Amino acid sequence: MTYRPPIDDILFLLREAIGADAVLSRPEFAHVDAETLEAAVRQAGRVASEIVAPVNDAADRIGATLENGAVRLPPGFVEAYEAFCAGGWPGLALPEEYGGQAMPEIAQAAVSEMSNGASLAFSMLPVCGRAAARVLLAHAGADIQALWVPRLASGEWSGTIVMTEPHAGSDIGQARTVAAPQADGSYSLTGTKIFISFGDHDATPQNAHIVLARIEGAPPGVRGLSLFLVPRVTMEADGTFGPRNTIAASRIEEKMGIHGSPTCEMRLDGATGYLLGEPERGIQNMFTMINTMRLEVALEGVGIAGAALDKAARYASERIQGGSGGAPAAIVEHVDIRRTLLRMKALTGGIRGLCYETAALLDRARSDEAGFLLPICKALASEIAVEVASLAIQVHGGHGYISEHGVEQLMRDARITPIYEGTNGIQAIDLLLRKIGRDDAKILDALFDRVASDLELAAGTEIGESVAAGLAEWRRVSSSLLDRLDVDVNDGLSGATPYLRLAGTVLMGWMWLRMAAAAKDDAYGAEIRTLARFFAADIMPEVNALARRASMPGEILYTLDSERIARI
Ligand SMILES: Cc1cc2nc3c(=O)[nH]c(=O)nc-3n(C[C@H](O)[C@H](O)[C@H](O)COP(=O)(O)OP(=O)(O)OC[C@H]3O[C@@H](n4cnc5c(N)ncnc54)[C@H](O)[C@@H]3O)c2cc1C
Repeated sequence: MTYRPPIDDILFLLREAIGADAVLSRPEFAHVDAETLEAAVRQAGRVASEIVAPVNDAADRIGATLENGAVRLPPGFVEAYEAFCAGGWPGLALPEEYGGQAMPEIAQAAVSEMSNGASLAFSMLPVCGRAAARVLLAHAGADIQALWVPRLASGEWSGTIVMTEPHAGSDIGQARTVAAPQADGSYSLTGTKIFISFGDHDATPQNAHIVLARIEGAPPGVRGLSLFLVPRVTMEADGTFGPRNTIAASRIEEKMGIHGSPTCEMRLDGATGYLLGEPERGIQNMFTMINTMRLEVALEGVGIAGAALDKAARYASERIQGGSGGAPAAIVEHVDIRRTLLRMKALTGGIRGLCYETAALLDRARSDEAGFLLPICKALASEIAVEVASLAIQVHGGHGYISEHGVEQLMRDARITPIYEGTNGIQAIDLLLRKIGRDDAKILDALFDRVASDLELAAGTEIGESVAAGLAEWRRVSSSLLDRLDVDVNDGLSGATPYLRLAGTVLMGWMWLRMAAAAKDDAYGAEIRTLARFFAADIMPEVNALARRASMPGEILYTLDSERIARI
């Protein structure tokens, strides 16, 4: 199935709207200029369409299999992964001293988006390795870093995130995997983890499992958890492979989508592991990885939305149905299809802008602001991926519901993104309770000010006026929800999900405002300004409904008792 990377949109965003210059002028990116960044984006687009996309179909139809205790990836995956690694992509944004290229997050964002758009299942393999490398860089000792990070940066070895257990999903503090200290300073880990992406596979000989577990005698709950590196194969002191460690995939799940990405139950049976960072700081240390992954999952959403839009746009210009006066017409001529395609473009472009803006904040070491935006990016991009994939099916009619065009696969693949790396419900709670409540809303106020100061870029335009009105609603609902949280947490949290969507919608409007202001006086610029007008007309009005939903009295939700709600 072909994939056309949205190079023009990405380059416009980087160059004109989110200020790549401000990122590249930083001393740590002195080795990257605008031409290098553009060349990387263009090359990543070729890799996505020529190396990654060709494996996506077999990944879905054949999937990963478990044979004799070892996971086999779908046909073509291993070769595609080798080609991907040969291009140096796994270590793109990792430090040069560990073999990476130290490129900024905005470059990584572009690479991730396009790779995800070409095949989400495939792209989950390098992302887990990247996330593991980041944890090791932040929390491992020098010996572990020297051995593992260069091999993760080259893609020679891969990584996993090993948190979830059958009774410990969102409530990770219930985890029961135990770690017993050994005389040599290592730990022996025992337990069962579930849903571990790429827990086992045949693309690399070694896997860095980053495992949350409780050291014997540690307190219950999240505070008692520690973080460990558990190698798939034990390592000898001289850096060669020892015997296989006692961590293995005991089953892989049958699931709705991402069939090429093995979702493994992992048994740890006295597996050797090494403590990362301080004991009982596992959750805090894991946040290095969780933050990386929130942006990565957001970019999964952007990638899928972009791929769905591409397929729908192509189909709409080729499919002939209806027409006036006996003249056949492509369905792109029909008003309802136009409205649908413009909605897909406006949502995809808006959330792409917000995700790249967040990546740029990370590059500029404005981590508090980026941290505030991460739950919004993760939840909104994943919701948009599902919506845009569904609309792509609609544009295809019955031909979208059958497998041939690959749009129903996009919908199935997209559906995991609102769930993993913290469900969207948990992201909404995190935004309201921790990101806003904890900090006396200082970061929120600074963000309000940034949006307000950009309004002058669009004075007198539809997008300018709608963002001004949306911002006023966002301010009003924020202060009302914070007041309600002070009195009754459940009452405040009853508005959390519509609140996150409201905030994200205003922020996407802000991105369209900035894109429209930066657009040149040419055909592409006219397209951007039209999409900004469409966003103002079709999507910004949702802010009013979201504000009313966020203001619903929470007591409505607790008027019925649980038994009554669960009644059929
Ligand atoms: C394909 C796939 C790949 C995955 N990959 C990995 C991986 O690589 N590593 C890993 O560790 N895990 C992985 N996961 C696990 C994933 O992160 C969890 O499924 C997710 O965190 C939710 O946990 P759960 O499934 O137990 O749902 P639950 O926690 O049982 O949640 C069920 C519902 O209740 C809601 N809920 C739960 N608690 C609360 C609360 N306190 N307040 C409000 N609402 C709440 C949730 O939002 C959700 O809607 C993967 C899962 C899948 C399906």
